Amino acid sequence: MLQSLDCGTFFSRRCIWVNGPVIVGAGPSGLAVGAGLKQQGVPFIILERANCIASLWQNRTYDRLKLHLPKQFCQLPNFPFPEEFPEYPTKHQFITYLESYARHFDISPNFNETVQSAKYDETFGLWRVRTVLAGGPGPGHVEVEYICRWLVVASGENAEKVVPEFEGLESFGGDITHACDYKSGENFRGKRVLVVGCGNSGMEVSFDLCNHNARPSMVVRSSVHVLPREVLGKSTFELAIFMMKWLPLWLIDKILIFLAWLILGNVEKYGLKRPKIGPLQLKNAAGKTPVLDIGALSKIRSGEIKVVTGIKKFSSGRVELLDGEVLNIDSVILATGYRSNVPFWLKVKHRVFDVFLPLSQMFLLGSSCYVTFQ
Ligand SMILES: Cc1cc2nc3c(=O)[nH]c(=O)nc-3n(C[C@H](O)[C@H](O)[C@H](O)COP(=O)(O)OP(=O)(O)OC[C@H]3O[C@@H](n4cnc5c(N)ncnc54)[C@H](O)[C@@H]3O)c2cc1C
Repeated sequence: MLQSLDCGTFFSRRCIWVNGPVIVGAGPSGLAVGAGLKQQGVPFIILERANCIASLWQNRTYDRLKLHLPKQFCQLPNFPFPEEFPEYPTKHQFITYLESYARHFDISPNFNETVQSAKYDETFGLWRVRTVLAGGPGPGHVEVEYICRWLVVASGENAEKVVPEFEGLESFGGDITHACDYKSGENFRGKRVLVVGCGNSGMEVSFDLCNHNARPSMVVRSSVHVLPREVLGKSTFELAIFMMKWLPLWLIDKILIFLAWLILGNVEKYGLKRPKIGPLQLKNAAGKTPVLDIGALSKIRSGEIKVVTGIKKFSSGRVELLDGEVLNIDSVILATGYRSNVPFWLKVKHRVFDVFLPLSQMFLLGSSCYVTFQ
């Protein structure tokens, strides 16, 4: 399947011909594509920058994380979750499942290999995928070039953390952690913590901090949809999927907002303004995921999580908010989101996402995967 060539002495780069697709990323999407190809007997390789599969789940998530959606919506093709798993598997169960998945389909990614660029060579009709191998022999790093006909982009929507600039943050002096490095509230006991962001991560981190007797203030700068995780014991998500068979999105959105109001009450009075556009339409238009409440809202109601407005500037041990309030704080947790790194390495002149595979489970997982042709 693989043939090693010498790409020329000038770059001293190894060249490898791949007789099948190159898949970038060994998260759930990359593994699912690999499994599908294995079943069809198509050779492929997976290039993964981390030293393990599902590195987002293994290295960049907090301890209390559980799947937000019921397990039937999160399983990968042709390999169900074990019966004994709960409806909302823990992150450890999800990782165990993904490891069994990779073993079951005999998928062995090339670890520690970061894709730096992927270019389509029009003359030969081939992709040239350049990687850097971490920890290779010799000083610095080892570069490899893979040549293939097909490229599958499965590097995720959460590949890089987003860290916005804030005036005075360098003079703050306390700990500043991005949510991807947050594991648990254990190290924050008794501390006054500013959690910046009110998406699923911001809400869950704030909730976890409360459970460890920390004192979180959560910055809510923009609007957010908060939905109950379940309605009358049924997953809200499942209900939405069910309604999608018959109803337009705008109508489902109205129903969801009404149900959220019935179950959660008017969240706007706690400073959580709802966007003008409904949750599903917003997800469709801007990719913004609604928050599924798993307990943070009751902590907001009880005042254990304080909701505050946007940040004006930081100074030593303090933050000044847009409404003029000044808070003394010990730590800052940036739940400010993630972004894809594809625009940095996929070098293309024309539109290449000719085939977008919203493989049902992956789409539901918030995953995405593209197969590129030219
Ligand atoms: C904190 C957090 C909680 C979440 N919770 C849930 C949840 O409860 N339920 C849910 O359904 N979804 C959740 N998600 C969404 C999550 O994105 C998906 O569950 C899923 O991990 C996406 O799978 P993926 O394979 O598309 O991407 P990823 O899991 O992100 O995998 C992409 C892989 O590509 C690798 N990679 C990236 N760039 C390169 C490169 N240049 N070269 C080589 N390799 C590269 C990465 O290291 C990574 O291993 C959560 C996300 C976060 C951040």
